[in-house]
Amino acid sequence: MEEIVNNNAEEKKKSLNFIEVIVEEDLKEGVVDKIQTRFPPEPNGYLHIGHAKAICMDFGLAKKYGGICNLRFDDTNPVKEDVEYVDSIMEDIQWLGFDWKNVFYASDYFPQLWDFAIRLIEEGKAYVDEQSAEVIAQQKGTPTQAGINSPYRDRPVAENLDLFRKMNEGVFEEGSMVLRAKIDMASSNMHFRDPIIYRIIKHPHHRTGNTWNVYPMYDFAHGQCDYFEGVTHSLCTLEFVVHRPLYDWFIDQLKTGDYRPHQYEFNRLNLNYTVMSKRKLLQLVKEGLVRGWDDPRMPTVSGLRRRGYTPESVRNFIDKIGYTKFDGIVDVALLEHSVREDLNTRATRVSAVLDPVKLVITNYPEGKTEELEAQNNPEDVSAGNHMVQFSRELYIEQDDFMEDAPKKYFRLTPGQEVRLKHAYIIKCTGCKRDQEGKVVEVYAEYDPTTRSGMENSGRKVKGTIHWVSCADAIDAEVRVYDRLFMVEDTSEDKDRDFREMMNPDSLKVLKGCKIEPFLKTAKPFDNFQFQRLGYFNVDPDSTKDNLVFNRTVPLKDSWSKIKNK
Ligand code: ATP
Ligand code: MG
Repeated sequence: MEEIVNNNAEEKKKSLNFIEVIVEEDLKEGVVDKIQTRFPPEPNGYLHIGHAKAICMDFGLAKKYGGICNLRFDDTNPVKEDVEYVDSIMEDIQWLGFDWKNVFYASDYFPQLWDFAIRLIEEGKAYVDEQSAEVIAQQKGTPTQAGINSPYRDRPVAENLDLFRKMNEGVFEEGSMVLRAKIDMASSNMHFRDPIIYRIIKHPHHRTGNTWNVYPMYDFAHGQCDYFEGVTHSLCTLEFVVHRPLYDWFIDQLKTGDYRPHQYEFNRLNLNYTVMSKRKLLQLVKEGLVRGWDDPRMPTVSGLRRRGYTPESVRNFIDKIGYTKFDGIVDVALLEHSVREDLNTRATRVSAVLDPVKLVITNYPEGKTEELEAQNNPEDVSAGNHMVQFSRELYIEQDDFMEDAPKKYFRLTPGQEVRLKHAYIIKCTGCKRDQEGKVVEVYAEYDPTTRSGMENSGRKVKGTIHWVSCADAIDAEVRVYDRLFMVEDTSEDKDRDFREMMNPDSLKVLKGCKIEPFLKTAKPFDNFQFQRLGYFNVDPDSTKDNLVFNRTVPLKDSWSKIKNK
């Protein structure tokens, strides 16, 4: 019996990620009664799929363990930040299915951070340095060689206080001085070598206007904000491992009781064929290399949404990749697999012909039409059916016909039979070409006894093709996307700018596509499966007279193939 209990505990542990293990232990041992996390984006760009990973961790953990997660904007650099980004970040988090307890801004704490800086100066733990950024950097030393003390390091407290106040009053120019913590220029951790904690920035802040002329650095703001808010588990990505001792050092100076926040780090999400830094994404937008932050080719949350991704598909993807302590690169095919898997269960099946040619069924009576039943989703019987119109003249895909076809071509070619989806078996009898030799009409005869659902409908033919009735079809624009980058590894080096790796054919706009009239009432963001082609959704550019669809993903799943190799 005992052993079974242990096994269960082991099993349970295995299904937890390493941060959940830490949280469960902290709760069990009473280190904390309730957990508190935060998601701390800098409002200097739109969120990307990497942020979604952090969001699922921060909000997901609080939800799972009955704690609190706050949204905190890390707005310590007024030059790059904007309310447009604040708004988009909120929208994207909610779309992903999460909600915050409170919205905070690092700028809310500017007065407390200022007071703390004054305290450090008074305690002889901070000083104003008048050297340039370059000189300060040169004096830092290397990991194996100690740095050099600044000549201003032992400035008297009163002088430091006076200068720091004047820095904030706007007396000095940007770059002329900084406030540094006085720690240890010989520390083996480079972050301890008198880190800069305040710099002068004379730029209005999106929330505090012109109140401040000095702004705290990330390392000086982040942990302290965690402390002011009561964060218990401060989760971030692995590049902050080396910052953790400094995070703890500031908390040691600041804290008055037993409580302290703890920082834990997990691997960041990197995807092949994708760039994921906000700096680069901003460049793509600013230089017009994409149509905006929500361009469906962008790895942003808003881009994925516009592309037809569902919140569930993004969350499932994040679940699949998990959280570890080592960095790696995830195959973008896994992301595509997740959306395919999700849309398979929810997307209504419809017919759309992207590259149309007319098919005439010569033995079908002129003027006759039939209403045929089309199943909305074979994966979900409760989704029901809708009706499609059948008639003598249909549109089919150009490449579903071939006059001289190779042996294994199971579509339309003279003498061969195929089934028209939801309708009859037809036999191809030929085609008509224009002066340039282009096929303009395809001819076939139908077998009236083979309509889907009829007794004879069980007769097997090798191919099934989709179609829409010419008289009823409506025109649509379809945007077909491919990867934005041609190379797996998009990291830059001195000879290779990331923009040179872009795929020149990442967007194809198809006009004059023919879709079934059922789609007339489709609304922006509605998802569909275009039979045999892939998953598509309605783009917000769509109007009543010009329906626009995006291809979310084709049907073919390269991930399943990779996995089953
Ligand atoms: P970028 O490097 O793309 O500019 P960032 O880290 O500067 O991103 P922030 O707004 O500071 O962006 O990030 C907010 C939170 O999201 C941080 O906790 C950060 O660790 C996390 N995060 C950012 N990128 C990723 C990623 N690729 N994978 C996982 N988490 C990420
Ligand atoms: Mg950042």
